[in-house]
Amino acid sequence: MADDDLTLPARARTTPQRRAVVAAIRETDGAWTALEIFDRARRRETGLGLATVYRTIELLGREGAVRPLSGEGRPRYVRCHPGHHHHLVCVSCGAVEETELCAAPPARELERRHGFAADSHEVDFYGRCAQCVA
Ligand SMILES: [Zn+2]
Ligand SMILES: [Zn+2]
Ligand SMILES: [Zn+2]
Repeated sequence: MADDDLTLPARARTTPQRRAVVAAIRETDGAWTALEIFDRARRRETGLGLATVYRTIELLGREGAVRPLSGEGRPRYVRCHPGHHHHLVCVSCGAVEETELCAAPPARELERRHGFAADSHEVDFYGRCAQCVA
């Protein structure tokens, strides 16, 4: 996943609350929910509100540093590298790996067959990681 250089966008206002949220995300491996980050960050910043957690996740998401996983009931997020990739989510241990392998149909083909102009796509894979398969 990502290195330990997760920071807020340069133009975003930095507050102790937001810093605590970023630190909590940095310390969390694999996928996480906003509530899990809220619980962790609140130990550091007792006055933290859940709205600040959502707002900070949104700010990080704008830069692509954090992304929601697709196809899940409750939204879970992961830290991300920039650039096009998909996630391999282990349902056994919760590890999340990134893969640059992409088998999405070309936008041209979608337009030809469906008349649909695609801007983006999201695909995450669920299964067992190399360690859990072994
Ligand atoms: Zn990613
Ligand atoms: Zn696993
Ligand atoms: Zn793709």
